[in-house]
Amino acid sequence: MSDGRALARAYLEQQRLLGTDAVMVPADARDVRPPSVTPGLRPGLVEPPPSHTSLVLLTPGASPGKTQQPAGEVSLTPGASPGKPGMESGLTYDPPAQDLFSSDPVQRATTLAEIADLVAACTKCRLCEARTNTVSGEGADRARLVVVGEGPGKTEDQTGRPFVGKAGELLTKILSAIGLEREQVFICNIVKCRPPENRTPQYDEIAACVPYLFRQIELIGPRVILAMGNTAAQTLLNTKQSLGALRNKVHRFRGVPVIVTYHPAALLRNPNWKKPTWDDVRIAHRLLDG
Ligand code: URA
Ligand code: SF4
Repeated sequence: MSDGRALARAYLEQQRLLGTDAVMVPADARDVRPPSVTPGLRPGLVEPPPSHTSLVLLTPGASPGKTQQPAGEVSLTPGASPGKPGMESGLTYDPPAQDLFSSDPVQRATTLAEIADLVAACTKCRLCEARTNTVSGEGADRARLVVVGEGPGKTEDQTGRPFVGKAGELLTKILSAIGLEREQVFICNIVKCRPPENRTPQYDEIAACVPYLFRQIELIGPRVILAMGNTAAQTLLNTKQSLGALRNKVHRFRGVPVIVTYHPAALLRNPNWKKPTWDDVRIAHRLLDG
């Protein structure tokens, strides 16, 4: 885009859609530069961030060097990389080896529909007991963006569809703010059955369920994954670090860039998080277009 005013207008419209009170126009909105490739930066990570954020994209290995960074993690905030020596270990999963002789039906599934069928019949954890419907996920088979939440809520359990309640309505708005229809992305959750009273899924439930998600991601082959909330972020990134520590970085799940942001249900409770969510979603959008 070469028209600074059009950019500012789009920005304001996006803020309106997200219902943010404070509208912040980047100081450099008038100074719109065509994307240029900075040596050492991957295409897609090249657009300079707006000046009201302090985000600077660094390539792995280009970090200041004083801190160790987990492989594949790209810090967006200079000097703010966690660099905890001996980073806390989180959940670990050991997915079955994928070879021609694997007899695991999840690994052998070649379509999202097959996975949905396996999920519909699944009794691998206690969450099968109280469910009305399984919620495998929905969207485009070859989606460029996969959105991952925590688990189905009441409406999702009743309908068998992900993110269709109040939080889902907000997610739909967030997606439309970056020009995406729900149908263009793939929307799913860490666990495919509703936890009673919407409690956080437990470790063994997550461990039982993630092979479905991991195979879904493998089959879709997205360009970007948007992890919404602690459960999605910590599971995909295999860490116990807090959402706050995980935001503002481009992580990777099996090579696919992962952006971490707040869960839409949390945004409904705390509208102050809408603006940071919008920042995160814009980073995801930028990576999608790269
Ligand atoms: N919250 C989630 O995490 N997922 C849904 O599908 C709905 C609400
Ligand atoms: Fe199976 Fe996942 Fe449902 Fe547990 S939550 S019963 S592992 S589909």
